[in-house]
Amino acid sequence: RMIYQNRVGFGSINSGGKIPLGLKRKVLRIVVTGGAGFVGSHLVDRLIARGDSVIVVDNFFTGRKENVMHHFGNPRFELIRHDVVEPLLLEVDQIYHLACPASPVHYKHNPVKTIKTNVVGTLNMLGLAKRVGARFLLTSTSEVYGDPLEHPQKETYWGNVNPIGVRSCYDEGKRTAETLTMDYHRGAEVEVRIARIFNTYGPRMCIDDGRVVSNFVAQALRKEPLTVYGDGKQTRSFQFVSDLVEGLMRLMEGEHVGPFNLGNPGEFTMLELAKVVQETIDPNAQIVHKPNTEDDPHKRKPDISKAKELLGWEPKVALRNGLPMMVQDFRQRIFGDHKEESA
Ligand code: NAD
Ligand code: UDP
Ligand code: UDP
Repeated sequence: RMIYQNRVGFGSINSGGKIPLGLKRKVLRIVVTGGAGFVGSHLVDRLIARGDSVIVVDNFFTGRKENVMHHFGNPRFELIRHDVVEPLLLEVDQIYHLACPASPVHYKHNPVKTIKTNVVGTLNMLGLAKRVGARFLLTSTSEVYGDPLEHPQKETYWGNVNPIGVRSCYDEGKRTAETLTMDYHRGAEVEVRIARIFNTYGPRMCIDDGRVVSNFVAQALRKEPLTVYGDGKQTRSFQFVSDLVEGLMRLMEGEHVGPFNLGNPGEFTMLELAKVVQETIDPNAQIVHKPNTEDDPHKRKPDISKAKELLGWEPKVALRNGLPMMVQDFRQRIFGDHKEESA
């Protein structure tokens, strides 16, 4: 533990003032599980840019090599194809534990595997953190609040979760992952951090992962109708990925365990979101209503006062500014080749 603290004392991104002039801080060895996924790959970009060594551990269930390919050949980057449900031996300073499918379509695809990933996978990464004295950050989710009876949601709210529903593999899985994280913290003195992430969007999201922002953007680009589930009056709060990554890094480097809500408090109904997508991509895009999925939370909006106060963090990118950056990436991935052919 002391070894770790010494390293981080000089390695912390918040310790700028402590680093003597002319001396470089120690390069940290950082594992990012799920680093080939949407959020993970953006985090890896920032950590590599900062000068650290990054090991991505990913089984490519929903992640893609393309998301991290630009680091191939960099001696500070390593990619390991590995399933976190199996034990893993590494020597590292920090573990960002993101491995877990995040889209409802993906996590319901094999619910037992989702639970194993959340429980056994998190246990293994905590065991690793304990053995090498690494600091461990869990990416939990706003889904731990279930279909919330408190609005907006504060970290002190215990949630309203169905233990036997089709979403339970994910939300109960993450709740157990939080429990394990706190038990390793209390019982084995592992340094831990917990982030509760609210809906996040941006470049590199899987195009057909079924999440609402990726669906609407892909549909509008392909001139298909936007599929609004139910009456479309349910709400979500959408955070741009760069804001999330900044929050995760501040949390890791800071002094507080959490949990911390990381999300953008701007709240939209799905119909309002469809409107923003129309304005951004195609004012003539049609809307069709489809039956909603089971156990869909009615509303969701983070109270981020805790992160503001203790991490000095708040999101900077509004939906109307973030969406165009994602549209550009989706346009390229959907039409890339054809466009050049027809140009
Ligand atoms: P993603 O599906 O793009 O990334 C998850 C990554 O984990 C993928 O690369 C996948 O291949 C990998 N993975 C899955 N199971 C694995 C296993 N058993 N072993 C090794 N690798 C495995 O999802 P994302 O949006 O980048 O989400 C990252 C993390 O953030 C997840 O833990 C998710 O629960 C959490 N989160 C995301 C959001 C969001 O809106 N994006 C919201 C709340 C929480
Ligand atoms: N583990 C791992 N890598 C390590 C250390 C542990 O994958 O470097 C796994 C280990 O296989 C076990 C889990 O983490 O399944 C929990 O480890 P811990 O030492 O806390 O518990 P124990 O092995 O005593 O059950
Ligand atoms: N949704 C929708 N159309 C879609 C996909 C999702 O209206 O094509 C709705 C869904 O019913 C939910 C909200 O959008 O109310 C957010 O769904 P998503 O799967 O993106 O994330 P969740 O917050 O449910 O995990």
